[in-house]
Amino acid sequence: MQTKPQVAVVGAGIIGICSAFFLQKSGFKVTLIDKNEPGSMTSSGHACTFADYACVPINSTNLFKDIPSMLMRSDGPLSIDFFYMIKNLDWALKFLRNSSRNNVNKISESLGSILKSASISYDEIFSEVDVSQYIKNEEAIYLYKNELAYLKAKKANEIRKKNGVKIKILSQNDILNMEPNLAPVFHNGQLFVGSRHTTNPSAVSKKIFDSFINNGGMFVRKKIENIIPRETSVSLNYNNNHHVFDKVVLCAGSWSNILTKKFGESFPLGTERGYHVMFDNIDLISRPIGWSHSGFYLVQLQDGLRAAGTVEIAGLEKPANIKRTKMIEAQARKILPQLKEVQSTWLGFRPTLPDSMPIIGESQINKNIIYGFGHQHIGWTLGAVTGKIINTLCCNRKPNINIESFSPTRFN
Ligand SMILES: Cc1cc2nc3c(=O)[nH]c(=O)nc-3n(C[C@H](O)[C@H](O)[C@H](O)COP(=O)(O)OP(=O)(O)OC[C@H]3O[C@@H](n4cnc5c(N)ncnc54)[C@H](O)[C@@H]3O)c2cc1C
Repeated sequence: MQTKPQVAVVGAGIIGICSAFFLQKSGFKVTLIDKNEPGSMTSSGHACTFADYACVPINSTNLFKDIPSMLMRSDGPLSIDFFYMIKNLDWALKFLRNSSRNNVNKISESLGSILKSASISYDEIFSEVDVSQYIKNEEAIYLYKNELAYLKAKKANEIRKKNGVKIKILSQNDILNMEPNLAPVFHNGQLFVGSRHTTNPSAVSKKIFDSFINNGGMFVRKKIENIIPRETSVSLNYNNNHHVFDKVVLCAGSWSNILTKKFGESFPLGTERGYHVMFDNIDLISRPIGWSHSGFYLVQLQDGLRAAGTVEIAGLEKPANIKRTKMIEAQARKILPQLKEVQSTWLGFRPTLPDSMPIIGESQINKNIIYGFGHQHIGWTLGAVTGKIINTLCCNRKPNINIESFSPTRFN
């Protein structure tokens, strides 16, 4: 009897969990490995939106002009540690270079094309794993503080529309009718037609993970120290031992490059740090509400109300910056004055390449190593579709989504 090919998936964030799910369904013998609990890192503390509409990258055409004013404001969406940035100037310059109109259009088209399959790919998982109690269909809205902010967003909206995103513009009154607990501190807003969100990301990850385990999947809670490509296999070093697999899928989020560098393949992978603040409230709002002025969402979870987002460029090592969570708290209280005590705060690490597109594809050093990392602001949304693509690649088939733009070779 022919033995099933053995695949190790390194990293049990949402990308790794979904990849393990689809690989197992295809008949691979799958071992998922993480040094932490599955789904407990970046994939747990985010803003909970299945943001199929988020095809416009952060490095958009306004960024160059807006950076100085963003940094001057203590309540702005962006904060930069200048010592860190000077040390990592190459990444920052590449990131800014991608904000030209031409590049933004190309990036949005590529992200738009993979985002079109995001929802349908999750539905494949959700038809087998019942997470209905954690998914809500109330559509997300963005609020604009003043008319200028709304007008500035027009360019991004045109790009979204070109990529098939349906947007409905709302007046302040429309929004207050939908969400009566909001304070009227905004000019107007917009709704992303057909969007959905989760009220418990950790529970969704856990349910998919449990289904994988119940169907015979293995989980190893260990840190991967090294990946060693061999002629027809790949060896993983953990637990002071070498473990040999036919294929290795690397989905270690912001930490992926630490491992690829060990076997000689390096990528300009940076991190956009983001925060959340949890408040002790239930039933204040019914949908994700984006506050563009400070770059975060308010979202009602099962166990509290979360304000999540903002971008901080400061690397993986620096401790959390309490000024950022204080800013999020103060802004959130302006929008929702009924907010109660803060329950907890959190810092997470979005894995971001300078062109805001993920790396999905085979390593150039060894075709038995397959990458799935760098999903920046939309990794929760892209979990299932990335898992499906990775499975297709492991089966040596061509994905039906064009993944050329996500190629690991594009930084050569
Ligand atoms: C504030 C904030 C808000 C966000 N909001 C949204 C949103 O609303 N919608 C959306 O789609 N996305 C959102 N995102 C982005 C999304 O959270 C990320 O893109 C996504 O979680 C990345 O998933 P991942 O599986 O790649 O990484 P992770 O979840 O970080 O998983 C990587 C895993 O690799 C493991 N690992 C690393 N190195 C090793 C090693 N050597 N050995 C073993 N294990 C290792 C880690 O322990 C970790 O569990 C947000 C992010 C932030 C920070």
